Amino acid sequence: MDNRKAILFSAPSGSGKTTIIKKLHNYFDYFEFSISATSRAPRQGERDGVDYYFISPDEFKQRVAKGDFLEWEEVYQGTCYGTLKSEITRIWDNGHVIIFDVDVNGGRNLKKYFGDDALAIFVMPPSVEVLETRLRQRGTETEEAIQKRLGRSAEELKQASTFDVTIINDDLETAVEETRRVIENYLA
Ligand code: ADP
Ligand code: 5GP
Repeated sequence: MDNRKAILFSAPSGSGKTTIIKKLHNYFDYFEFSISATSRAPRQGERDGVDYYFISPDEFKQRVAKGDFLEWEEVYQGTCYGTLKSEITRIWDNGHVIIFDVDVNGGRNLKKYFGDDALAIFVMPPSVEVLETRLRQRGTETEEAIQKRLGRSAEELKQASTFDVTIINDDLETAVEETRRVIENYLA
């Protein structure tokens, strides 16, 4: 198998990308997560260099100017996230398949960059109401952050058809199984 491939997951925040990706690690031990840089503060339990590279807004700007990012977005007003070019070489040199968890614009940009070397997966919540419930139940966000996330979701959901595959994340086990199947077909 040619491992110089990438699987990218995009979806409105709260759709279940992170949950699905974690479960997929049980099947694919050669997956490696592209660790993004962000200017937001870590949530409880998040570790620098594991969940994200947590950097200050100033450092983020400097690294944009240096051309360190393959793509970056101000996903929420005042909060930037970006894919470092160095992550691609790091993971491919390890012989691993890159896993991206990025916002919908970032996903589209990365798909343009990687072309056939990436499978672009859109994770769709069963409804906007369920999305809201999940975001609230996750309990990681302030009310303001929840509103910012929901505010973007309608626009993001419209982009689903531009991805290679859409997975509806209603029942989690079904969604994980379907995702596993499409990835296996893609990498075969
Ligand atoms: P994302 O990474 O897309 O922002 P998460 O993976 O953090 O979303 O999921 C948001 C919340 O919804 C989490 O609390 C997670 O446990 C829950 N969740 C994810 N998938 C399902 C599902 N199929 N059914 C019920 N709850 C789910
Ligand atoms: P969170 O703050 O919930 O961890 O992430 C917020 C949003 O930023 C999610 O939609 C996530 O996919 C997105 N995101 C994380 N890393 C990147 C990145 O490197 N690039 C882009 N464009 N979006 C990212």
